[in-house]
Amino acid sequence: MLYSEQTFLVAGLSRSGVSAAEYLLSRGASVYVYDDVDEGAVLTAKEELEQKGCVAVRKDNLSVRSEECDVLVLSPGIPVDHPLPLSFRRAGKRVVGEAELGALALKCPVVAVTGTNGKTTTVTMLEEMFRRAGKHCVACGNIGKPITSCAQELGEDGIAVAEISSFQLETLYSLRPHVAVVLNITEDHLNRHYNMENYVYLKSRILRNSAESEYAVLNYDDDLVRAFAEKTKAKPVWFSLKERVQGGYLLDGALCFGGEKIVSERELPFTERHNLANALAAICAAKLMGVSTEAIRTALLSFQGVAHRMQTVGKVKGITFVNDSKATNVDSTLQAVKSVKGETVLLLGGKDKGYDFEPLFEKIASSSVVHTVLYGENAFRILNAAVKKGFSSVTLCRSFEMAVRIAYLSAKEGQTILLSPASASFDSFKNYEERGEKFIWMFEQIKSEEGEKAVEAECGE
Ligand code: ADP
Repeated sequence: MLYSEQTFLVAGLSRSGVSAAEYLLSRGASVYVYDDVDEGAVLTAKEELEQKGCVAVRKDNLSVRSEECDVLVLSPGIPVDHPLPLSFRRAGKRVVGEAELGALALKCPVVAVTGTNGKTTTVTMLEEMFRRAGKHCVACGNIGKPITSCAQELGEDGIAVAEISSFQLETLYSLRPHVAVVLNITEDHLNRHYNMENYVYLKSRILRNSAESEYAVLNYDDDLVRAFAEKTKAKPVWFSLKERVQGGYLLDGALCFGGEKIVSERELPFTERHNLANALAAICAAKLMGVSTEAIRTALLSFQGVAHRMQTVGKVKGITFVNDSKATNVDSTLQAVKSVKGETVLLLGGKDKGYDFEPLFEKIASSSVVHTVLYGENAFRILNAAVKKGFSSVTLCRSFEMAVRIAYLSAKEGQTILLSPASASFDSFKNYEERGEKFIWMFEQIKSEEGEKAVEAECGE
């Protein structure tokens, strides 16, 4: 693509859209930008891009301006069957994402990580492993830093560790990772991708360009992921929590790779099974990229976890608060429940993504969850699943704030209040981070109220 000869329309001005527009300007392209939001951070971004040379397109002018454009750069937040991309496709024009522009711009080796759950955690582990090995590495993609913005920073010698979501895979064609990691595939985003077949197909596209000299790090314990080995030219390298595979595995309480012990489980600062799986996947990818055992080991020994993922917030009156706000699908919540030691009061609910919650209650019924507190847009759908599965220890709340308070009132000393909602946050929050922050704030409120009560009691009031 000769950028200077092309006119691009960048639709959706979140971080990646802004980065794509700036990158295209730097390559001499003509850039139109569009977002139907006209306030706050988006409006500021639009104004700044206009000052740099972009043309901001108004909603009433969008179809006319679209006709002048050769390529649409679509935000991952906009579905590919939205009327705007459809109009480009109908006219025989290209529709790409910011990640595609980034993939075309990257000159260094790429490690790409996809899967339904664990991407950010694995990418963060890998980033630390490369850092400890003294390699110049940038974590980018869905984790926050746009790929286009890090392409220049990395040059030829760095390593890009790219977190790739299914939304990005819809408009990503040229990525060719030296190592592609597929962590797991369970039901998610079906309101966007319609069915599991399509979702699995999208995930498999991370391997579409791989050659015999490249690697696919695949989860041996996941049937859907295991089947990818047959569809790619890349060499499969497995990771497994259950079997001694060619790659990363558990043996006698240690995380091993290819016959070598890397680190013992008991030395690690985390115990969750799903994080052991993420660590094994990261070990495989790091080893394939030539990172030493020592660098991998020290990175894992100091791994602090990522905020809003099984984050222990603190204790009030012997009740532990755990923030797992990033758990936005059923499987991640099940993993979270399994990870908590002892009885749990579980907070569930939020924006509906069309999940079937019955499997959740099937498993919860025989778990350490003693009570669930439901809130949010899908609370009644979740309640329906609980009733169908005969799980009766449920409270329905009007608001998130009320739900946290009810969870606290129903929890007993020694139990854990787990926010692991199996739902997106957008019904009442900007994102899962805001939901997690609110949970932490509620914890602080409850803690200080309990502190005040204790002081009052001491003073005999
Ligand atoms: P992603 O970036 O894929 O959304 P994260 O690393 O942010 O994944 O973790 C999201 C949630 O998924 C966490 O709250 C955690 O409880 C759960 N999780 C993390 N790793 C796994 C895994 N390997 N399998 C299942 N669930 C996981």
